Amino acid sequence: MPEVICQTSESLYPRFGLALPDKQLVYVRDDLPGCVKRFVINHELYHLGDNARWWLLREVKATVHAAIQHPIGFVACALMSLAPYRLWYYAQRIRGREK
Ligand SMILES: [Zn+2]
Repeated sequence: MPEVICQTSESLYPRFGLALPDKQLVYVRDDLPGCVKRFVINHELYHLGDNARWWLLREVKATVHAAIQHPIGFVACALMSLAPYRLWYYAQRIRGREK
């Protein structure tokens, strides 16, 4: 049974959430609005059972899955992700410098 653990924004920065499939653990930032937190938890839980190897495909699959179930949380999360530190994080991932 997967476990969901709330963490401070500092400990997860710059992420909103994190999935550890080997341990069946999901971390989520404790300061996110409720709808965003539910979207992020759903997104991270999807990662626990996904075997896709390419990180971009994994992210698209998890995001689409969670957005269908939590559309308001998805929109709010997307708007929150326009913050410069989040855009920098995505740029680093696209360049392969961050997982
Ligand atoms: Zn993800």
